[in-house]
Amino acid sequence: MFPGVSATSARRILAAATLLALLTLSACAARPVFHARQITAAPPSPSVPTPMPSTSPSPSAAPTTTAPPAPGSLDWYVSQAPTFPEAPPPQPVPLTATGAIPFWHRLPTDQKVAFITIDDGGLARPPAVADFIWRAHIPVTMFLNSPAAEEHDDYFRQIQVAGGIVENHTVRHTSLAGRSYDYQRQEICGAADKLETLFGKRATLFRPPFGEYDSTTLTAARDCGAKAVLHWSETVHEGKVRYQTPEKVVQPGDVLLMHFRPALMDDLLAALKAIHRAGLTPALLEDYIR
Ligand SMILES: [Zn+2]
Repeated sequence: MFPGVSATSARRILAAATLLALLTLSACAARPVFHARQITAAPPSPSVPTPMPSTSPSPSAAPTTTAPPAPGSLDWYVSQAPTFPEAPPPQPVPLTATGAIPFWHRLPTDQKVAFITIDDGGLARPPAVADFIWRAHIPVTMFLNSPAAEEHDDYFRQIQVAGGIVENHTVRHTSLAGRSYDYQRQEICGAADKLETLFGKRATLFRPPFGEYDSTTLTAARDCGAKAVLHWSETVHEGKVRYQTPEKVVQPGDVLLMHFRPALMDDLLAALKAIHRAGLTPALLEDYIR
């Protein structure tokens, strides 16, 4: 039922604790308790959790309002999100304590889960994304470029409050393959340091820009605190899932890549539907790579 799995739910509950007193609660008979919370204004900032009071009647206060939500509205996206079977308790993938860190297109797990990742951050930041992630309980990992994260930190912090995790995608978004160790370390550690300052957590995952890397990248990423380097198995763009593997269906452990682009709401919905069609449940990468 809840795609965020238990550990994610625990994180969300903690994040929500500071907000609950200020949020307008709106019981929605059609959804279980986790879906009952409704953010009726701009997503709350965790540093200043002061969502505006609702200016329109809540669904529970207006039982005569039975019209379906307008296509393209936040309510519509939430209504279109599939209901998933409960995710299994996460079994973290094995990691070696020393030596090179792994590079994965797909996590080596047989558990019936897949992972949603969102990259970059500088191009577009659709305003309803945090609320969608919060209300539909979408576990997401954000691989951010640190300058975009710094310029728009409130936006990404709202997604963090909604359960998203911030990870590392370098400072300048240049290809790292073939570059010196010092260059790569500067790009990876520089972003990790900034993201840690902004979001209060050291990145443990790294995704190289364009997916381009070499053995030096794995060394530098490890030296900057990464436990794994992630590629992807599917891309999602403008509401379409493109499979990079011959199966043409999401597989257990798959990593879906999308970007902070104008159609991110459609991309999130398309990813959820593809994961649902495959009989899987979305889960959080960080619950599997510890
Ligand atoms: Zn990128």
